[in-house]
Amino acid sequence: MIKVEHLSKTFGELSVLKDVTTEIKKGEVISIIGPSGTGKSTFLRCLNLLERPSGGKIWIDEADILDPKTDINLIRQKMGMVFQNFNLFEHLTVMDNLTLGPIKLLKKSREEAEKRAMELLLQVGLAAKYNAFPEELSGGQKQRVAIARCLSMNPEIILFDEPTSALDPTMVSEVLGVIRRLAQDGMTMAIVTHEMNFAKDVSSRILFMNEGIIYEEGTPEQIFEHPKKEKTRAFIHQIRNFQYHIENNAFDFYAMNAEILKFCEKNFFPIKKTRNIGLIIEEILQLCLNNEKAAERNDILKKTNGMEVMILYSEKDSETEIVFSADQSFQNICYKTEDDDGLSMMIIEGLTESINESVTDNRVVMRLKLKEN
Ligand code: ADP
Ligand code: MG
Repeated sequence: MIKVEHLSKTFGELSVLKDVTTEIKKGEVISIIGPSGTGKSTFLRCLNLLERPSGGKIWIDEADILDPKTDINLIRQKMGMVFQNFNLFEHLTVMDNLTLGPIKLLKKSREEAEKRAMELLLQVGLAAKYNAFPEELSGGQKQRVAIARCLSMNPEIILFDEPTSALDPTMVSEVLGVIRRLAQDGMTMAIVTHEMNFAKDVSSRILFMNEGIIYEEGTPEQIFEHPKKEKTRAFIHQIRNFQYHIENNAFDFYAMNAEILKFCEKNFFPIKKTRNIGLIIEEILQLCLNNEKAAERNDILKKTNGMEVMILYSEKDSETEIVFSADQSFQNICYKTEDDDGLSMMIIEGLTESINESVTDNRVVMRLKLKEN
């Protein structure tokens, strides 16, 4: 359905897409993953000519879309695009958002367009909102309207550019649910996403983009379980494991929390699990650094190059471990004070399946295995 050969795109001096060759067949669901800034959005935007490629060829249904003789509007109609920020017409109702294109571009009657719009709103669970304005909707609802609007043009393929990245975590699943349903119905889709679990179970193929090329591609199983190339492995691994370095006790707690949140979102952790991880890390760091030995411990941190907080996540075994590691002169990660009532530790024990502490390679390492429910 789509064939791309040696596609390149430069912005001035910056070479973003270097040499992209791939094919998307009818009915395929392709997830595009990779570090930010590697050209994933640019790739999608070249496919529907929101960006003019600098070189290479793109065929859609046998038509060479870079050929000046090709009718670009016809090509664009075959391709829907869903953006991170919804891009709804804010001054139009949901119904008008869905009927504008079909009436103006597909020359449908208003009646026909509204009938189809209602069917689509029903399909995305928003029939009751047909008369609402976008600002009255939640982010998840807006994105579902954007998907319905895209479907109203009867596209043959839909390109999604991080459709859930701008959403509150509580709303991610309602949008993914709609996309999942489209996949089951056989819609051809290319989805740029950070939702790895989703990519894994919805896709027929994964493209890992890195440094302006499709660095590795394969089935979800090949890419997530047996990546062939080192950089693919590093990317997959880094998504699953989190590491934060604490220099001393004046570290930026909020910056760390933001990183933890980002990691949990990337891995599609439920809200409750994310909250529990944050709570455990906060409590342990309190017990570790905020006690009568605080000054002494801070000196150790400064002399021994700080401490590490890690989250190790194995999707396969559905296991999450939180690990703290510091110089062995700490003796214990959590320093036990005289007047400690043990409440913090009780909270932590309630959230964990096991807690182990050991000394290896001159480091004291505390591992807490999270309860998964
Ligand atoms: P990704 O979606 O993988 O994060 P993008 O395709 O958005 O990556 O961007 C890749 C690179 O191209 C980035 O360095 C970005 O700053 C640059 N870039 C994207 N669009 C433009 C543009 N219109 N003008 C100049 N540079 C751009
Ligand atoms: Mg992008």
